[in-house]
Amino acid sequence: KHRNPHETEFHQAVKEIFESLVPVFATHPEYMKNGILERLSEPERMISFRVPWVDDQGNVQVNRGFRAQFNSSIGPYKGGLRFHPSVNASIIKFLGFEQIFKNSLTGQPIGGGKGGSDFDPKGKSDAEVMRFTQSFMTELSNHIGSDIDVPAGDIGVGPREIGYMFGQYKRLRGGYEAGILTGKGLEYGGSLGRTEATGYGTVYFMEEMLKDKGQNFKDSTVVVSGSGNVSIYAMEKAAQLGANVVACSDSNGYIYDKNGINLDTVRRLKEVERKRISEYVEEHPEAEYHEGCTDIWFTPCDIALPCATQNEIDEAAAKILVANEVKAVGEGANMPSTLKAIDVFQNNGVLFGPAKAVNAGGVAVSALEMAQNSMRLSWTFNEVDTKLQDIMKNIYRNSVDAAEKYGHPDNLVMGANIAGFLKVADAMLEQGVI
Ligand code: NDP
Repeated sequence: KHRNPHETEFHQAVKEIFESLVPVFATHPEYMKNGILERLSEPERMISFRVPWVDDQGNVQVNRGFRAQFNSSIGPYKGGLRFHPSVNASIIKFLGFEQIFKNSLTGQPIGGGKGGSDFDPKGKSDAEVMRFTQSFMTELSNHIGSDIDVPAGDIGVGPREIGYMFGQYKRLRGGYEAGILTGKGLEYGGSLGRTEATGYGTVYFMEEMLKDKGQNFKDSTVVVSGSGNVSIYAMEKAAQLGANVVACSDSNGYIYDKNGINLDTVRRLKEVERKRISEYVEEHPEAEYHEGCTDIWFTPCDIALPCATQNEIDEAAAKILVANEVKAVGEGANMPSTLKAIDVFQNNGVLFGPAKAVNAGGVAVSALEMAQNSMRLSWTFNEVDTKLQDIMKNIYRNSVDAAEKYGHPDNLVMGANIAGFLKVADAMLEQGVI
């Protein structure tokens, strides 16, 4: 902590992983001896840069850009870019650190990285977003490459932002390098199924977990926080599997629709019109809108899928979910539950799927996008979706097996951390002290 003062989110992520690894060190002291933990928790490279741009009024604005190139022992750095006013070095480092283990779990050859900016796309015109992203990419282009570091989207970075960044990279470099970013539009090298991958993957993982306990999504009541990329496709897949999805949110508040959320409305409001979720009730007067996004966890449900942001479920919210007899919680967002909230779930018999495993489908399909770009091929939606389902099943099975092998059956937080760690640690040992 003294080397990274004030980086609370980063401390939280490191603490969770290192605590999980205790049983591993008992049987594998070689990981302790070779400085693996010290090296893992120090990014190979942490890039921070100025992003100047001109707003529509002609004023110069300055934001801060980041890229954490955390660990490249099993492949090029891979991880999204987040544009949100809360972005700082701690947030980027926690996300980059988590990404190392998540990417390892996917079984794909990708290292861990993450980046972003404290730029707030909300309320900005298209032209402002374009000028900002072009300035951001002007610096970032010095550090990325299809065999070096391949960014993607995250909060605040969707198809529009990826398109502008891809265009700027191409202009700067003067060649067509499709594999430089993932999450691209289908016309210029994107993969079918990438848009849906994180949300669908979240539900595929939870379906496996429920199946193991003789349960499933059918006829269950589901609450999904957020109304962005992960949330929308988690809601869609859960509904396809027969669940009744009754609530979702944005950063201002949440909607409750006892008849089931109408996804066409949410998708149009959030993906096309970029409006607030509160507008949903204008078209669906039977639904309710409540101000305050974290109160969504007061809604009774069988399955809760937090798909908005970090630390959105604290201990108090977890206790409310348990009091309302939640059966399963799956983390579609990164680190949405505090460490105390996770304790509440695990101590009360709630099936708990941790982010690293549950939401790994997005980056897994990003790796499939990279593979297609390298081969100059495009797979069908069904090919990609079938591979995604297999990947999510494998992640679930590997996490369960690691948890059992190291003496904590059913603890998927430990299982996912251990399974993700072992491959990276072995690669680091084989590559020497670098
Ligand atoms: P989007 O920007 O598409 O959507 C984010 C959603 O969460 C929006 O509804 C947003 O509301 C809400 N939100 C954002 N910040 C806050 C906040 N501080 N408090 C409450 N609500 C908030 O992002 P994604 O769906 O891509 O990402 C959601 C989560 O999933 C993140 O944790 C991300 O890291 C993680 N993730 C994403 C992957 C991907 O493929 N996209 C892959 C793996 C993980 P509003 O509209 O008001 O901003």
